[in-house]
Amino acid sequence: MPIDPTEAYDPDNIFAKILRGEIPCNKVYEDDHALAFHDINPQADVHILVIPKGAYVSWDDFSAKASNEEIAGFVRAVGHVARDRGLVVRGYRVLANIGRNGGQEVPHLHAHLFGGGPLGPMLAR
Ligand code: 5GP
Repeated sequence: MPIDPTEAYDPDNIFAKILRGEIPCNKVYEDDHALAFHDINPQADVHILVIPKGAYVSWDDFSAKASNEEIAGFVRAVGHVARDRGLVVRGYRVLANIGRNGGQEVPHLHAHLFGGGPLGPMLAR
């Protein structure tokens, strides 16, 4: 079920539980601002999720309320993971779903990082 990105942050969402260590994840990278882990249901050969450590529902919430330091940390983490995983030379895709039209299901901001092969058209037709 897509979420409503204008609702208050739900501290019991699945990624909040992963951040607190209550649910395991297959970790790829972690620093002060971000955590990256493999998606449980990969849609490409490489499908990694990068999440900020702060409590932000969506890209909208994050871009409006996060500090410059948090935003820089998150963006740099996405770039770091892509480089570290060797995705840059062949290319990759970064995607964030926001709300109903975007099909967002987990109400904690996450960037999907796809790679490992040609990814096809940007949107399903
Ligand atoms: P959204 O549709 O919200 O943009 O994407 C949510 C993503 O989170 C989906 O790709 C889904 O497979 C992934 N996901 C949902 N629950 C878990 C989980 O418990 N662990 C991991 N690693 N990924 C999850």
